[in-house]
Amino acid sequence: MTPAPAALVRTIPLLRCPLCGDRLGPTEAGVECGGGHSFDRARGGHLTLLGARGRRFPGDSAEQVAARERVLGHGVFDGVADALAEVATGAVGAVARPVLLDAGAGTGFYLDRVVDALHRRVAPGGDAMEAVGEPLGIGTELSVAAARRLARVNPLVAALVVDTWDGLPLRDAGVDLVQVVFAPRNPAEFARVLRPGGTLVVAVPGPGHLEPLRSRVGMLAPAADKAERLDTHLAAGFDPGPVRVVDVTTTVPAAIAADLALMGPSGVHLGRAGVERAIGSGDGPVRVHVEVRTFRRSLQE
Ligand SMILES: [Zn+2]
Repeated sequence: MTPAPAALVRTIPLLRCPLCGDRLGPTEAGVECGGGHSFDRARGGHLTLLGARGRRFPGDSAEQVAARERVLGHGVFDGVADALAEVATGAVGAVARPVLLDAGAGTGFYLDRVVDALHRRVAPGGDAMEAVGEPLGIGTELSVAAARRLARVNPLVAALVVDTWDGLPLRDAGVDLVQVVFAPRNPAEFARVLRPGGTLVVAVPGPGHLEPLRSRVGMLAPAADKAERLDTHLAAGFDPGPVRVVDVTTTVPAAIAADLALMGPSGVHLGRAGVERAIGSGDGPVRVHVEVRTFRRSLQE
């Protein structure tokens, strides 16, 4: 049996059993709680910690994950990754060994960038913080296809297969920063796992995101009042902080535009042939408009 990845070993003391809430300890094959619930590590290195209801949704398919990898590899969302890295460094850069949770981390593209930025940060006075400040990234993801890649994205990242809506298999107040990038939100759980004063970072699409592609191929439009609803939902337990806006229009080849349409929730009902017909050939513009909203975990309940 291959040994557990170092990042997973560091994560285990922060975990709790998804079935009974007891703390989890390491075993040779994975983890186990005092009540005898055991969870084996997959060969790829990720650990599946689903709750009593088990798996209710498959998560992104291997095809959607591959499309997303091509889009991210093309750099379409680099501006979002840079913004997240800056926000995280500002929020927890002074914490010695910060613990970051990316809920719905996908293949780990954003978590990798954020963890790397924190790893390279420099202490006040100019000393590199690599030795004393090694961050830990915990990525949770429902899709097994994505979790396999997440487990390999960065040696400082641990991969857990989790359904955010069913709760997080993490102990109370063990996390310094939670980030959620275009993924399901569970504010009560985010508040529970964050330490008081910790930071929640939520990236949501802004008006006109992915236009004109979105209209042309008939992708689902994000709800217009999404940002307002987000603030309302997060009101209990969080104080709203600054908002960063990323708004760039780039030119992408037709194949990347098709991947953009197919990688998200619309990909399920759009067929590749229809998408490619709607896009045509040649390069075209696409707007990336994303709001990166920050919230501070209240110091009192
Ligand atoms: Zn248990």
